[in-house]
Amino acid sequence: MAGDGCTCEAWHEGECGCDADWTDPEVYKLREENQVLKVERHELSDLLHECYKRLKHHDQHIAFHDQTTFMKKLEAILGV
Ligand SMILES: [Zn+2]
Repeated sequence: MAGDGCTCEAWHEGECGCDADWTDPEVYKLREENQVLKVERHELSDLLHECYKRLKHHDQHIAFHDQTTFMKKLEAILGV
């Protein structure tokens, strides 16, 4: 793989003298995807927190009688 924009015809980064970017384009793609996933995860976490609060306040049956399963799993995921 050639360096992006390499003009000195180097075979690898160590040989390159023109300051080209030798980072694998895949790395940039994965970084970008990771950033998007982080934002989505954050948004989902906020939404789940909101659901949890509403459930706890408005659905007394789920909040108190189903504590061993559903609510415990939810609390474990949210870390509350
Ligand atoms: Zn070069």
